[in-house]
Amino acid sequence: SRTFPFPETTRIFTVANQKGGVGKTTTTVNLAAALAKHGATVLVIDLDPQGNASTALGIERRADTPSIYDVLIHDDDVAEVVAKSPEFETLWCLPSNINLAGAEIELVPMVAREQRLRTALDEYISKRAAEGDPIHYVFIDCPPSLGLLTINAFVAAREVLIPIQCEYYALEGLSQLLSNIQLIERHLNPALTVSTILLTMYDARTRLAFQVAEDVRTHFPTQTLATVIPRTVRISEAPSYGQTVITFDPGSTGSVSYLEAAGEIADRGAAHGH
Ligand code: ADP
Ligand code: MG
Repeated sequence: SRTFPFPETTRIFTVANQKGGVGKTTTTVNLAAALAKHGATVLVIDLDPQGNASTALGIERRADTPSIYDVLIHDDDVAEVVAKSPEFETLWCLPSNINLAGAEIELVPMVAREQRLRTALDEYISKRAAEGDPIHYVFIDCPPSLGLLTINAFVAAREVLIPIQCEYYALEGLSQLLSNIQLIERHLNPALTVSTILLTMYDARTRLAFQVAEDVRTHFPTQTLATVIPRTVRISEAPSYGQTVITFDPGSTGSVSYLEAAGEIADRGAAHGH
């Protein structure tokens, strides 16, 4: 398999879409695993109280396991909370915890409540770089709402990756998401850009999927990846084994397409001087 170029500085993505069930978590864990398979050091931050990304990466979660909640609310160091995924030596996860559901409320009265993830993450990234073991990519998996958790993700990130499901209502809600991102950019994080759009759950048998894909490419010609993720059973089965499809079924079309999408992301980063 070909080698992917590593970015010179850490690329931090928020994977966002205000719709649930569009493939945010699936995209987060599989892109992360695909990049790790090619030797990159990758950190997944599971900011969804549901904890699906942590589970899919095979990270054990108990009520008393340190989590992103402790980083956001108790100022724990990221280094003390990260867990290594069993799949790849260079794939790490900052796991979620059910307490995170309450964090939306607990954050409200806190000082610099929108910046807490960014501060903690930047400190960890600098520490790893100083140790000569840099993080190449961070992917933050968001809950489907625009609360303080998602705002913390947008403030911590430099890039937004939007997965779009190739179905009828795909573009609905997207303009709302984009104007929210614009607000964040204007007031909290001027460096934020929507760099990447990934078409997911593509069903090649339907004319509709084709049309939605065409629409998205017309609206976002530079952001949309050429690779499309097909709807496959193997992708949806993998999480129940605590695995990504990249290791669960490496030769499957789902795995191959996520590896190709990851390659495009790596190549574009190199082209844009990240
Ligand atoms: P979100 O995080 O946006 O809520 P998920 O990633 O959890 O969405 O995906 C929603 C459901 O769709 C999950 O059951 C997941 O396994 C399934 N799924 C995601 N992508 C695919 C795909 N390409 N093919 C088949 N099933 C998929
Ligand atoms: Mg999810």
